[in-house]
Amino acid sequence: MKNRCVFCDILAGHIPAEIVYQNDDVIAFKDIHPRAPVHVLVIPKEHIPTLNDLSDSHKSLIGELFLAATTVAKLTGIDQTGYRTVFNCHKDAGQEVYHIHLHVLGGRKMSWPPG
Ligand code: 5GP
Ligand code: ZN
Repeated sequence: MKNRCVFCDILAGHIPAEIVYQNDDVIAFKDIHPRAPVHVLVIPKEHIPTLNDLSDSHKSLIGELFLAATTVAKLTGIDQTGYRTVFNCHKDAGQEVYHIHLHVLGGRKMSWPPG
């Protein structure tokens, strides 16, 4: 089917996921292979393959993704200790799932720059 991916399957309820937060436009669930004590993915309910596919029509959706990330940080107790938000775009950044997702990572000290 057009526009299907593993995250669309999670959205449809075909693959289970531990949902942390959702609203009309976005959903946040725990990463299956967490890279930090808190590792949550915030995704739009609309299937958008990469950041390069965003357009002016997505301006408010982009805001929703970041606002959801701050809500996730509060809900998981990392808002004051600190956290990192990351979008990976295409292969050099390590994008594996082609449905945009904002990683929210925290609960440990992180190094900079990323590898
Ligand atoms: P990317 O490398 O594309 O930026 O990140 C994709 C992320 O999705 C990875 O951290 C990976 O662990 C996570 N992931 C892949 N498949 C699933 C899944 O079926 N369920 C969940 N919860 N996370 C997944
Ligand atoms: Zn998708």
